[in-house]
Amino acid sequence: MEVGENTAAALEVATTFKELGLAPEILRALDDMGYSAPTPIQKQAIPLVLAGRDLMGQAQTGTGKTAAFTLPLLQKMIPHANSSASPARHPVRALVITPTRELAIQVHDSVVAYNKNLPLRSTVVFGGVDMKSQEADLRAGVEILVATPGRLLDHAGGKSVHLSQVQFLVLDEADRMLDMGFLPDLKRILDLLPTRRQTLLFSATFDDSIVGLAKSFLQNPLRVEVARRNTATELVEQVVHRVEETAKMEALLQVIKAREISQALVFTRTKIAADKLGRRLQKRGVSTGIIHGDKAQLERLAALDGFKQGKVRLLVATDIAARGIDIVDLPCVFNFELPYAAEDYVHRIGRTGRAGASGLAISLVSREEERLLAGIRNFIKRDLEESPLPEIERPQVVAAPSVEIEQPDAEPTRPRRPRREPVCALLLPPVQAHAASVDKSA
Ligand code: AMP
Repeated sequence: MEVGENTAAALEVATTFKELGLAPEILRALDDMGYSAPTPIQKQAIPLVLAGRDLMGQAQTGTGKTAAFTLPLLQKMIPHANSSASPARHPVRALVITPTRELAIQVHDSVVAYNKNLPLRSTVVFGGVDMKSQEADLRAGVEILVATPGRLLDHAGGKSVHLSQVQFLVLDEADRMLDMGFLPDLKRILDLLPTRRQTLLFSATFDDSIVGLAKSFLQNPLRVEVARRNTATELVEQVVHRVEETAKMEALLQVIKAREISQALVFTRTKIAADKLGRRLQKRGVSTGIIHGDKAQLERLAALDGFKQGKVRLLVATDIAARGIDIVDLPCVFNFELPYAAEDYVHRIGRTGRAGASGLAISLVSREEERLLAGIRNFIKRDLEESPLPEIERPQVVAAPSVEIEQPDAEPTRPRRPRREPVCALLLPPVQAHAASVDKSA
């Protein structure tokens, strides 16, 4: 049976977490996090997971899907919660597989927060870092394991983890896992799991390949859906500015200044473009982090942390690296370059306007990207508003830049030496007048 939109909506009978039947330990944790009511995906999914059903959940990051699967799984594992030091008493019972390291870390952070009043253990493993400390955690025993596919197989091959007691499998962002070519790894992982288990699959989109995956991995699944793939496009204000390719960085800075944008995620298509733009922004004194697949894991985490803590103003990212990143209250996303795949546009703009909040997505579109823009318009079945770049007033006092681009982690009490040059393009004349000089600085 499939749960269509109407049936799914009818399931939303509980309006509080308590009514969903969650244990006091979990309710206290949710209270501490300031969650006052379950989100639609939580209202729908939690009762079905508690009832033991396999589930296909169509929900994007930002809808509260992590809690939708974590909370009922914690509840179901409570009978096994124990404080014994013996690893044998802490076998992996819930396995959550995610496509990227960033999402794995984020999901695990949520697990830790929701689980904080229970003696269930959890850890996260992902590639790009040393295996030793991960091995030690696994050998000590954990009930909940969040992992990326490749590293999980490495650990399973090295016998630091046994998956024969897994009762719950979660495939998070399954569409992205398929996009990234993880299907063979997923099949190998599946071979290590008991056939008798409960499987939950979450995906932002449900095309034939996902339905095929669900057919082979899930048993008689119910389907719940909260966000059709265009939902983000309805919540987020989207603006297109026509800009020459060479003038894009000035345009970016101009929009940030004019709209007084405190922080933004800036998307490029390629790693090379991300590096180049990030370096140019840094040279201008704008605190900028760069995140893409070729960056060392520590660099990626530092950039993401700096951004989440507000120390970094702009985070330049490629699509895969930014996928699943959850930044509360991210006010704005820039498409510095439009993505080749129209679907990635929806994923990108879904980083802002989370959980019903209004967001802003600004695309800087050059003549060369005309076809990509047409493809996106077609995909989201909406016209995108085009407007001229917003004007900014020219500054009266040229000595102000150090305030505008101040690094938040700089010690506020130390006297600063005046900068010798205008370091931020926000203080330079409007974009058209100096587009040529911008390019030279690249
Ligand atoms: P997710 O879709 O799981 O990535 O969650 C998106 C964001 O929503 C995260 O920052 C969660 O902490 C937050 N969140 C999840 N459930 C709720 C809730 N019921 N009330 C308020 N915030 C929530």
